[in-house]
Amino acid sequence: MEVKIIRSPDRKKTIQAKMVGETLVVHLPLGMHRKEERKIIQRMKEKIEKKKLKKQINKDDYLIKRFDEFNSKYFQGKLKVNSIEFVTNQQRNRGSCTPARGTIRISHRLLDMPKWVLDYVIMHEMTHLVHPNHSKEFWAKVGEYKYTERARGFLMAKGMEEEIESNCDDE
Ligand SMILES: [Zn+2]
Repeated sequence: MEVKIIRSPDRKKTIQAKMVGETLVVHLPLGMHRKEERKIIQRMKEKIEKKKLKKQINKDDYLIKRFDEFNSKYFQGKLKVNSIEFVTNQQRNRGSCTPARGTIRISHRLLDMPKWVLDYVIMHEMTHLVHPNHSKEFWAKVGEYKYTERARGFLMAKGMEEEIESNCDDE
């Protein structure tokens, strides 16, 4: 990504960044330290790259297809969801579900993992639509997906399973 810096003589000017074609144009107030500038530019770059990635990954309707498939296979087609999408801002969680709003978010990090792990997370979050807590009934339902144990082991090895246990319902 090419970067063009425009330094404004106005010191009170706020920092702005936007893509112009393939170039990232960053407006900075004059008089910043170069080190600080570099940090800001790096952050802007990451932000824009994440945005781009998010757009890309959500173009594929993989999540909706899986949702429909699991819905009829495990939930007699009774589940309803307002949105199910990949997100890039979940550094700690691998997924989350907000049953009251019917929204499911899946971390884009799952895209680098085997499909059966991603599918387990989809199943896990879908089950929260009916069982908000990690109750016995919850795990019995999630366990109907045949790779649940394997996927949990996989995620535990990556240190990603425990985190979700305490986080996924707390929104
Ligand atoms: Zn959960």
